Amino acid sequence: MNNDIIIDGFCDGGFAPQVEEKHSLSVGSRYEDSSSFKQAVRSNAILQNFGIKIKASDKSRVIATCTYHGCPWRIHASLCSDGHSFEVRNLQGSHLCPGVNRAGNKQATATWIAHEIKDLVKRNPDITPKDISNNLETTFALSLPYMKIWRSRELAREQLFGSIDENYNWVPAANCYTQLEFNAKIEEIYRISPELHSYLISLTCKWSKATFSKHIKNHYNTNNMAESFNSWIEEARNKPVVDLIDMIRGMMMEQRAQRKLHSTSWKGPLVPFIEDYIRDVTTKKEHFIIRQSTSTKAEVEGSFDRHEVDIENHFCSCGFWQVSGLPCTHAAAFVGTNLHNLWHTYVDEHYYSYRFVICLK
Ligand SMILES: [Zn+2]
Ligand SMILES: [Zn+2]
Repeated sequence: MNNDIIIDGFCDGGFAPQVEEKHSLSVGSRYEDSSSFKQAVRSNAILQNFGIKIKASDKSRVIATCTYHGCPWRIHASLCSDGHSFEVRNLQGSHLCPGVNRAGNKQATATWIAHEIKDLVKRNPDITPKDISNNLETTFALSLPYMKIWRSRELAREQLFGSIDENYNWVPAANCYTQLEFNAKIEEIYRISPELHSYLISLTCKWSKATFSKHIKNHYNTNNMAESFNSWIEEARNKPVVDLIDMIRGMMMEQRAQRKLHSTSWKGPLVPFIEDYIRDVTTKKEHFIIRQSTSTKAEVEGSFDRHEVDIENHFCSCGFWQVSGLPCTHAAAFVGTNLHNLWHTYVDEHYYSYRFVICLK
């Protein structure tokens, strides 16, 4: 048997030959870029019931091997002269290993699924995870956990229609910090679409920064924090409940230890992210006219608007300081008129390094 030519799509009954054909790998096959090549290798492994791992992947080549120790299967693709396509140069195409359990094939990552279901989601963005599951079962004989399919559908939607963050830009009232600004924007929305207006007004969750509590000092209106936690514990999510809790416990223990160690290297009074913010806001090239009314109050005028700043009460009429706990550009412009400022005193205590260290004790 010539190992270097093609992986035979040996059919075990259930699959349409064209699916096998579409996902077969051969020397000389070309792919749009390295990620479409990797996608093809994964699809092939899932169909053939084997495990593969990407052994090397850089600008000029991608090498994948079988996960089974001692199995000679191996594929090598190199960058073509056009600077983006990848071509299969070498293929050791026969597995001498027992293969893996198809239903739980680890190759079926959320990214792989998202790519495979893109057309389905494009035709029907509201397709249910159940329908996606049926589809993957017919095409790849995969039966995957509900949550994994759900996440893959989200990922496919995001790639097709943009992320929630980007979509927020279409609802200008979401990023307003004051009630006044919010009212003006929401009125504007009403004039464009009364339906959208009544939908937004009917939402029970807080989606505009103008309505956020001033005590929490949070100005994020996306759920990225929960999302990143979810993706971090991804592997654990498919486990039985006791193993899941134990795995998450272990991960959190290690993370806390790492963070604690990391925080000992911090030099300033504020957490590094906020030190960076202060550096940014104080070095902005924006020009402001400052009209001081008392030693701590001023009117700060920029090219587009004018705001009232009260540094003693951590207040600016733009609303950002009160919601986020961080001095806004207006406050920074006023404070910056004095030399030798203790910048950290204008930042909410929540952002102090010592507070961070306390919660890791
Ligand atoms: Zn193998
Ligand atoms: Zn301001």
